[in-house]
Amino acid sequence: MEQTDSSSGVAAKTCYVAGKPVETGNILHIRSPFDGRLVGTVTLAKKADADRAIELAIAGGKRLSRFERYTILERARQLLIERKIEFAQMISAESGLAIREAIYETGRAQDVLMFAAMECLRDDGQIFSSDVSPQGKARKIFTIREPLSLAVCITPFNHPLNQVVHKIVPSIAAGTPVVLKPSEKTPLTAIKFTELLYEAGLPHYLLSVLLGPVAEIAETLVQDPRVEVVSFTGSVRVGKKIASIAGYKKIILELGGNDPIIIMEDADLDMAVYLAAEGSFRNSGQRCTAVKRILVHEKVIEPFVEKFLAKSATYTYGDPADPEIIVGTVIDEASAIFLETVVANAVEQGARVLLGGKRNGALMSPTVLVDVPRDADIVKFESFGPLAPILAFKNIEDAITLANSTAYGLSSAIVTNNLENVLRFVKDLKVGTVNVNEVPGFRMESTPFGGIKDSGLGVKEGVIEAMKHFSFVKTFSLPW
Ligand code: NAP
Repeated sequence: MEQTDSSSGVAAKTCYVAGKPVETGNILHIRSPFDGRLVGTVTLAKKADADRAIELAIAGGKRLSRFERYTILERARQLLIERKIEFAQMISAESGLAIREAIYETGRAQDVLMFAAMECLRDDGQIFSSDVSPQGKARKIFTIREPLSLAVCITPFNHPLNQVVHKIVPSIAAGTPVVLKPSEKTPLTAIKFTELLYEAGLPHYLLSVLLGPVAEIAETLVQDPRVEVVSFTGSVRVGKKIASIAGYKKIILELGGNDPIIIMEDADLDMAVYLAAEGSFRNSGQRCTAVKRILVHEKVIEPFVEKFLAKSATYTYGDPADPEIIVGTVIDEASAIFLETVVANAVEQGARVLLGGKRNGALMSPTVLVDVPRDADIVKFESFGPLAPILAFKNIEDAITLANSTAYGLSSAIVTNNLENVLRFVKDLKVGTVNVNEVPGFRMESTPFGGIKDSGLGVKEGVIEAMKHFSFVKTFSLPW
């Protein structure tokens, strides 16, 4: 099934309509953000392919038992384990992420497959006795989950594999056919994973993967009334557009973030420094839950900055294929230029750059800024790259006000050993997650994850929650 031009090392991929390759169409060229070499091509789909993918999914096919779904996902996991280096090399080549990050990402994707396979075997129904109130009677009420007729999943570039896996695997585990529209910036990994699922035995009607002009493919899929759920991860701008055009269907929106790490007066500073640096620079700072603001109690800001600078300087950046490199490129040169502008504007607004701030093509060096005004753009808006602005706060009230001061509400990290502080933050931060003595991005692939405010509608993802959204609950009752 897999199509690769092995003589040139360039992956020649195509969209698939229910397992059938799209044979003619415009060709998308994917180049390495690091050195511009051609990494692969994709034969794009047209509107007629989107319509056909919907028709074939709705027409359906063999309905899989729970055990069959388990077996396919488990087989896919085994194949991914065998091919993890191949996948990692493709992720790194098309996204510019450091190879070590890409290898880590394949491990996360294996976990998604494992948890989803496990969920396939777990009964998700409930039983309610009905003789439990004077108004009741001798009956029992049961619930079962049934698949939806069709899901559309749209994914961003920042985790080329794991974003895709987190969408389509829970859908398949729930038995719901899915049409995937991955990012145009990182389509090769998405298509390679689609091919892997077909190889693992997935009936073709359950999955199509389409790319092409947004108006012809993505918006056609989002607006089609036969689609019962749209699950989108990406920017606030596109998420709100989808919400405005989707019409009468479920929508799941996992949008941007501007997560703080809050370092209290009592914090273990070495731990705080480690977490702030990992959170800011891993994955080139391109995680929705990356640390985007470092908020430090004014009493410890001086020693923190000194230690943080030393730690940040150890984050090597450069050729993503080099296993020693920690920070690869951002997704493209335009994004790196944007980050450079964000830093320049912050400096104009009063900040000082203590480390980095240098750009070379799509490479942006890990950058540390201090004296950042609270109303600077770098504080208010999401910047998707290895930038670490540090701000001081006076006390816990001030920290909470500052943390809650943006339009986002995805996740957060607190560094403290004081239980009273912890409880106060858990109660008062307007976010989807509070991680204590951890980075904001910490999660298990099965646990509920997702934000509020502009970061999302409060609908959680993670395998277990996602399977609920990709299915519906049918209730029935019997005399008892
Ligand atoms: P993006 O620009 O919003 O694109 C995401 C996807 O939407 C892509 O597949 C894109 O297709 C598609 N798209 C573009 N216009 C569309 C339209 N009008 N209708 C339907 N789909 C459309 O986001 P990105 O730049 O790839 O990703 C970065 C953003 O994702 C950041 O804001 C980050 O915080 C967020 N993110 C959030 C989470 C979370 O869980 N909350 C996780 C990861 C990332 P094309 O590629 O063809 O343009």
